[in-house]
Amino acid sequence: MRTIRLNDGRTVPVIGQGTWHMGEHGRRRVEADALRLGLDLGMTLIDTAEMYADGGAEEVVAAAIDGRRDDVFIVTKAYPHNAGRDSLPAACARSLRRLRTDRIDLYLLHWRGNIPFAETVDAFEALRAAGKIRAWGVSNLDERELDEIVALPGGQKCATDQVLYNPEARGIEFSLLPWCAAHAMPVMAYTPLGQAGRLLRAPALVHVAARHHATPAQVALAWALRHPHVLVIPKASDAAHVRENAAAEALRLDDADIAAIDAAFPPPRRRQRLQML
Ligand code: NDP
Repeated sequence: MRTIRLNDGRTVPVIGQGTWHMGEHGRRRVEADALRLGLDLGMTLIDTAEMYADGGAEEVVAAAIDGRRDDVFIVTKAYPHNAGRDSLPAACARSLRRLRTDRIDLYLLHWRGNIPFAETVDAFEALRAAGKIRAWGVSNLDERELDEIVALPGGQKCATDQVLYNPEARGIEFSLLPWCAAHAMPVMAYTPLGQAGRLLRAPALVHVAARHHATPAQVALAWALRHPHVLVIPKASDAAHVRENAAAEALRLDDADIAAIDAAFPPPRRRQRLQML
């Protein structure tokens, strides 16, 4: 699996695994099995959050990584209201307990709230110094907010911005993606499959998929991965989906494919407000 280098020198696979909605439906064993299969196939980054299933998704992750913690790169996120001097270490301790581990590989601020960035960055840095987290980053911030982050003491340590990105939501291409590329900050694309809604039925993706004997989901992933600074975190609890997603790494889209997708989902012509779910 191709990898991307983070600003602390560690590398992560370009295709990871999401976990939103895992732990909600009494299917924890199936979900943990799917994540484990994904690990076997090289998708060793797992993204979760204290928000997902109220901590239940972190527990599914714990089950999936049991006995193989060192092979896995765990990303989890704190609620904005838990991003303070005292609340962040407390939230981190709860996540560590649910994940049944002693450290988080990458800890993200889920979205901007009312706590000043300076306080959150200080709290992240304190957790890093204490060895509770290896790195930290943000989610759902635009490039102006990233400017605020990197201007803070310690702010240059910000490892990623996790944002919505798929052919239906490509506003980040105008200014956020170039900002991240200029700062050597990988972008973690969430909902890369459009949550398997109408995106995967779009004629442009179906057509490109047929040309490559691939599936529309694989085309969506390969499309996001055409950027060298992007990694994707599709969520799959179905084993066939997991296999398909891992195999998407081998798919390379050509200019005609990109043009067909551009025609159906035009790239942004001006700066857009950051979209989020
Ligand atoms: P995705 O775009 O990953 O879509 C998930 C859906 O696609 C599921 O229904 C899944 O079904 C289905 N699916 C997976 N693989 C395939 C495939 N090969 N073919 C067809 N269908 C497929 O949506 P998410 O919103 O879950 O985004 C991915 C992850 O990003 C989240 O799980 C979460 O970790 C993160 N995220 C972060 C946010 C943030 O604010 N930072 C916001 C939203 C998401 P099934 O499960 O049955 O396999």
